[in-house]
Amino acid sequence: MHLKIVQAGDPVLRHAARPLGAAEIDSAEIQQLIELMRETMHDAPGVGLAAPQIGLPLQLAVIEDVAENETSERSPVPFHVIINPRLTLGAEAVELFEGCLSVDGFQAVVSRARTVTVEAFDHRGTPIKIEARGWYARILQHEIDHLHGTLYIDRMRPRTFSTARNAARYTAGVPIAELLAKLDPVRAPSS
Ligand code: ZN
Repeated sequence: MHLKIVQAGDPVLRHAARPLGAAEIDSAEIQQLIELMRETMHDAPGVGLAAPQIGLPLQLAVIEDVAENETSERSPVPFHVIINPRLTLGAEAVELFEGCLSVDGFQAVVSRARTVTVEAFDHRGTPIKIEARGWYARILQHEIDHLHGTLYIDRMRPRTFSTARNAARYTAGVPIAELLAKLDPVRAPSS
């Protein structure tokens, strides 16, 4: 069984989600919700899913990245849950394409911090501290944005916005810096 993923335009994606209380985290309802979100993320498939994306304004997200094509910036992340997360960004930024299950079929270049620290509770309500870099850091930033009513389209380089199909067709393998230079609006010569 899986849950319906809401799409951009649904107000639940645009409001801050509420934190969960300790007793609530331990409840059968939340444990069942986590399991359903896990299945929904697998089916999509996606590397993260935040509760607002299934219509619930709660500060909870599930994350898992099997990372079949492992690189220096992307390695497998086992399934885990973040609840009531607090995010601290590293100074260095990286620009890469990203997409969202709630903006289905599109992607765009988004600047994100290369490293982050996240303090949160896990699925049992135990405090955890995550130090992440590369793609994992990007997933965390994307999911935590969802808990504050922010979508990647708020942060994207608008001129890189593309269908996933066209991105595969026209921009696969093109270095992001080169792509951004090509997409720069033509400026009239100053006089
Ligand atoms: Zn998303």
